[in-house]
Amino acid sequence: MANSKRSYQREVILDILSKNRCHPSASCVYEQTRKIIPNISLGTVYRNLSKLAQDGTVLRLDLGIGTEHFDFDTTPHYHIVCEKCNAVTDVFEYKDSLNSLAKAHYGGEIKSHTLVFYGVCEECSKKL
Ligand code: ZN
Ligand code: MN
Repeated sequence: MANSKRSYQREVILDILSKNRCHPSASCVYEQTRKIIPNISLGTVYRNLSKLAQDGTVLRLDLGIGTEHFDFDTTPHYHIVCEKCNAVTDVFEYKDSLNSLAKAHYGGEIKSHTLVFYGVCEECSKKL
């Protein structure tokens, strides 16, 4: 495959991520990409997303719900997952103070942490 085609695909996918700030899954990005590149495969979209995550252009989120989600916002921050609809929302920025808190209970060195909140979103709360 020509390099230009490959970089065009990556550009389209990155553009979709920049406009869909809902932390889309790979299949969600695939559905959006197909509207612009109809013959693209899910595998190609997934490979591009992996490449973008590997080089740090986007974040790959493992939220413990079995599906990977992708985030255009690479600044360190936390997420909350709705247990009803799986919607992923930003909460607040990374707290270095949590590393110090953990250090108080740990003889070794603390480098970083991950933190995911689980709850029920406003929309789903209304339906309860
Ligand atoms: Zn919800
Ligand atoms: Mn986010």
